[in-house]
Amino acid sequence: MLEPTSVHHVPDAISRGQRPGDVRRVNRATALELLRERPQGRAELARAMGLSKAALGGLISDLTLEGLVLEHPPTAIARGRHPAPLQVNARRFSVLGIHLVPHGLEVGLYDALGTQQEVLYAPSQIGEGFERVLSQVIETSHALMIRAKKLRIGQVIALTIATPGPLDSQRGVVLGAPKFPDLNGMNLKHRLEQALNLPVRLERDVNAAAMGHLRQTKASSFVYILITGPGIGASVVINRTVYRGTHGFAGEFGHISLDPKGIACPCGNRGCLERYASSEAIENQYKKRNRKTLSIAEMTQRAREGNPQAQAVFDEAGTAIGLAAVTLVNLFDPSQLVLASSGTSFTDLLIPSLKRQLAKHAYPYLNLGAQLNIENVTLEHPVAPGAAECVLEAIYQGEIAIPKSNTEVVMG
Ligand SMILES: [Zn+2]
Repeated sequence: MLEPTSVHHVPDAISRGQRPGDVRRVNRATALELLRERPQGRAELARAMGLSKAALGGLISDLTLEGLVLEHPPTAIARGRHPAPLQVNARRFSVLGIHLVPHGLEVGLYDALGTQQEVLYAPSQIGEGFERVLSQVIETSHALMIRAKKLRIGQVIALTIATPGPLDSQRGVVLGAPKFPDLNGMNLKHRLEQALNLPVRLERDVNAAAMGHLRQTKASSFVYILITGPGIGASVVINRTVYRGTHGFAGEFGHISLDPKGIACPCGNRGCLERYASSEAIENQYKKRNRKTLSIAEMTQRAREGNPQAQAVFDEAGTAIGLAAVTLVNLFDPSQLVLASSGTSFTDLLIPSLKRQLAKHAYPYLNLGAQLNIENVTLEHPVAPGAAECVLEAIYQGEIAIPKSNTEVVMG
C-alpha cells in the first residue's frame, strides 16, 4: 500500500518521545517552513516552535552552517539592539518543476523559496515515442540548469516532473495514461535521474497543482479539480495531505461515468466526465452545436462578452462537473472545492451551473452542496509551480539532501 504523501504540512515541533533523528528532522522542517512564511527573530521562532532558546540555538547553527538560513548581524537602534531576523537563503539552491502533458512541456526554475525565476515552454512531441519526449525534457531542463548558474541562484539540486495519471510515484513509472501512450510503462524517474544526475520525483499533475494550492490556502481538507486539454483529474486533500488510494489511483475524477451508454472514452468506459467537460470536450461540443470551430480561448472570450452559444456550452460542462462533484461532496465533506484549468483560465464560467447541481443533488443535511466554498484558480499554469512545491517539501523535510557545496552536483 502506498502511503499518503505529506504536503506543505508544518509538523508540530517535537522534543520528547521521539528518536533523536526524528526530532531533528521535524524541528528542522518546522523551522524552515515558518521562516519561509516570513523572516523572524530567534525569540519569536522559539515561541512558535515551543522550543527553548538553547534548543533552537543548536538547530539554527546547523541551518546557518548548511547555508540554508541567513542571520543578519543585529542592528543597533536608539535603545538596545534590534533582534536579528532569520531568513531562508533563497539562493542556497534551486529546483525545477516540470509539467509534461500530451500537448506540451513546461519547465520552471524556482529558487529555494519557491519563487519562479524562469519558465520554458515547448510544443508536444506526442506520437514520436518515449525517447523523443524524454530528450526534449532533458534538453529543456539542461537549459534551465545552466540558466540557474547565470542567475547565481544556487545550482539545481532536484526536480519533480508532473504528468497525467495514473502513475506509480514510488517506482517512478507512468501507468496506462490513455491519452499519452508514449509514456506508458516507462520509468521516467529513473531515466531522468540517470540523464540529469539529480534526484527526481514523479507526481500526478493534479496532485502537484493541489500541493501548490496548499501554500495559498488555510483550508485543511479540499478537493482540487484540474481541467487540462484532454482530461479532468482531482486531488483529494485530507488534513493537508494528498490522499493517493491503495494503488495510487485515487482522484481519477474524469473517469466517473455519468452515462453508461454515453460517449466512448479511451479508458475503455463510456460516458466518462472528461468526455463532456475537458477543454477538448467543450470545444467539440461547441463545434457540434454551432458547426463552427473555436478554440477554448476564443470561446472563453465570447462567453465573457455575453455570447449565449458559448455560455451554453460552458453551462453544460459545469453541470456535468457538478453532477460528478456531488459524489465527492457526499463522500468527503470537504471544506472547499477548488477549480483550476491548465492553459486558458475559464473555470469561473463553470461555477454557476456547477453550484446549481450541488445545491440540488448533494446530501441535503446542513445544505452541504449550497454552502460549499468553491474557489476558482486564475493561474493559467498551476502545475509546474506545484511540482516545484513537491520537491521543495522533500528538501525541507530532509528526504532529499542538499549537497554541501554546489560543486557536488555534477550535470550529466
Ligand atoms: Zn474514461
